[in-house]
Amino acid sequence: MLRDSVRALSEAKIAPFAADVDEEGRFPQEALDALVANDLHAVHVPESYGGAGADALATVIVIEEVARVCGSSSLIPAVNKLGSLPVILSGSEELKKKYLGPLAKGDGMFSYCLSEPDAGSDAGGMKTKAVRDGDFWVLNGVKRWITNAGVSDYYTVMAVTDPEKRTKGISAFVVEKGDEGVSFGAPEKKLGIKGSPTREVYLDNVRIPADRMIGEEGTGFATAMKTLDHTRITIAAQALGIAQGALDYAKSYVRERKQFGKPVGDFQGVQFMLADMAMKLEAARQLTYAAAAKSERGDSDLTFQGAAAKCFASDVAMEVTTDAVQLLGGYGYTRDYPVERMMRDAKITQIYEGTNQVQRVVMARNLP
Ligand SMILES: Cc1cc2nc3c(=O)[nH]c(=O)nc-3n(C[C@H](O)[C@H](O)[C@H](O)COP(=O)(O)OP(=O)(O)OC[C@H]3O[C@@H](n4cnc5c(N)ncnc54)[C@H](O)[C@@H]3O)c2cc1C
Repeated sequence: MLRDSVRALSEAKIAPFAADVDEEGRFPQEALDALVANDLHAVHVPESYGGAGADALATVIVIEEVARVCGSSSLIPAVNKLGSLPVILSGSEELKKKYLGPLAKGDGMFSYCLSEPDAGSDAGGMKTKAVRDGDFWVLNGVKRWITNAGVSDYYTVMAVTDPEKRTKGISAFVVEKGDEGVSFGAPEKKLGIKGSPTREVYLDNVRIPADRMIGEEGTGFATAMKTLDHTRITIAAQALGIAQGALDYAKSYVRERKQFGKPVGDFQGVQFMLADMAMKLEAARQLTYAAAAKSERGDSDLTFQGAAAKCFASDVAMEVTTDAVQLLGGYGYTRDYPVERMMRDAKITQIYEGTNQVQRVVMARNLP
């Protein structure tokens, strides 16, 4: 029922704008409005904080169905989870009440600020600093590649509070868009997910009350990594959705397109491509759903499974979308058809929340 209703909503209210959003590189406001109106913008927020209380699998299904029509729009529910999960996992009761309620109501989105210009895969090498000043912390630094920056009202920011301790000297904070000293860079010009703004976040003497720290001092990096264990599964979901959108389009196209006097879908060479695409996608889906169940239960092998799901599903999404372009021939290579957008959108799923090389490092360190 959930899948059917999100699919119907996505096809009616999000799909019609997906090509424009990509072409114009603009934020998908129509998608945000439709998702908020249907309580699907941040489904993971627990009911006790005014949210829909969706479990990890239901959240995956929502993201998957939105991504099936528009990769950029699927980053609304996905990044709301990424940004707010540190608060849910490690925040005080006061922080949860203060920030999860407005998020659930649709009054403000959440972003996640870990990466920096010189600290990507090696996020522990970050330079952003937070220095204690009485009942306040003062933050200075630059966060890079922040999804939905400028649109979101709330930002989970990881910053160094004790440079001697490396990752154990990093703490997490909630920073608000309106805090004095917060500003944003120009939107990045990207290959895909062009409707999802990616900007730098500048922190210039941002003075915030001490109770905005998420969890204890020095636990921020651990919280950031624990968050990714859960949210890499949402990137797998995004990858599945984008690939499913491309497969569905290619499937109907080959039935219509005629060459040599018959639909190209009658050729076994084409059928075998479709069979492989569907097979790989189904394998990725099963891995992702199993990982989502592990996320919900907090199983001890979640780190491996989350990385495996993200890595496998994103590699599959790249293969499936590339094959979908191939199945449309020259038409697939143009913006008159959606599969080239899907191929460009799929690429990012191999890069963010840890590149697929980094996922392999994570898996190798946590072999079952
Ligand atoms: C569109 C977009 C949105 C993003 N959104 C966010 C966000 O909301 N919040 C946020 O904090 N970050 C975000 N990111 C940042 C993203 O997570 C990083 O780009 C990513 O982790 C890689 O870091 P890097 O770009 O610095 O690459 P680098 O770390 O410089 O990597 C360069 C290459 O080296 C490889 N490499 C690095 N280390 C190893 C290793 N140990 N073994 C093998 N290979 C290795 C990488 O796989 C890659 O191929 C986003 C990025 C993009 C492009």
